[in-house]
Parts: sequence; structure tokens; C-alpha cells
Amino acid sequence: MNALGVTLEQVWAWLGEVADPEIPVISVVDLGIVRGVAFEGDACVVTITPTYSGCPAMQVIADSVKEALQAHGLEQVRIVSQLAPAWTTDWMSEAGKAALKGYGIAPPVQQAIDISGLHAGIRSRAAPQVSCPNCGSAHTQLTSEFGSTPCKALYKCLDCREPFDYFKCH
Ligand SMILES: [Zn+2]
Repeated sequence: MNALGVTLEQVWAWLGEVADPEIPVISVVDLGIVRGVAFEGDACVVTITPTYSGCPAMQVIADSVKEALQAHGLEQVRIVSQLAPAWTTDWMSEAGKAALKGYGIAPPVQQAIDISGLHAGIRSRAAPQVSCPNCGSAHTQLTSEFGSTPCKALYKCLDCREPFDYFKCH
């Protein structure tokens, strides 16, 4: 708790209302990019890990976080950008993945490690099995490595014929 009587739990709850600028249905907390919140004297320090280094949305995210907390009376907010360890899709909450799907974006899937590659000492990864967010079909095809933003790839469903974005950052 800081001098104003604000608890860290409250700060987390407020951050849970800050939407990702690229995908407004998911909060920065559900996306898993907020790594830590702490009070240092009068300041509130929020540690953020970008979904990939050089993510153009990071400045927007940092500004939104600052504005949201200042709107709740935390005047001094410091954003710390932490690049290591790198963000992984494992940090995205189940609620976040469900929100992505509802928005028509296929949530990231755990990429299977090819066991045969391990024997040769090479960690190769099999292509992820992406299901269509519209009809659930696993019958999908990558059409472009880059979708509407560099973080997404464009896929097409071979069953319902709908094109969709796949959130590919990991
Ligand atoms: Zn489909």
C-alpha cells in the first residue's frame, strides 16, 4: 500500500481495464505484458515486456498505462520496459485467449517440438495447428506471414472460407 492507501491489487485491477491498442478486446494484463507493479516511495513502477522487441505499440501502451493510473490519482507513474526474459504466449491468460477468439483472431497455440529433431540435436518446431476462430475447423492455411499488424499472420479457413488473423508472436 502506498501513502494514498492504494494497494497493488487495486493497481492490477486498474491495469486490467487498459486495452491493448491493437486488439481492444484484450487488456494489457490478459495479454501478459505487465510483468510487475511496485511502489517506490511516491511513485508507482509498472514493468512491461513488449510482445516482441521493437513493437510499435509499446509507446502507446506505456502512455495508456500512465494515463489510466493517473486518472486514479497515482500522479507519479514510471514505466520500465523489460526485454528479458522475452514475452511468450504462455503469459497470455485464458480469458485473454478467449477474448481474442471472440474478436475473430485465432489465439496463439503452443508449438509442438519435433522429437525427431531432438535426436539430431536440432530443436526444430512443427508448424502450429491453427483453428479457425469462426467455425473451429483445423483445416486452415497460412496466406501471409503478416496480417493487419506485424504481430499477426493472415490465415484462411478452408472450410468456411473466412480469412482470419492469427496472433503469432511468441
Ligand atoms: Zn472456418
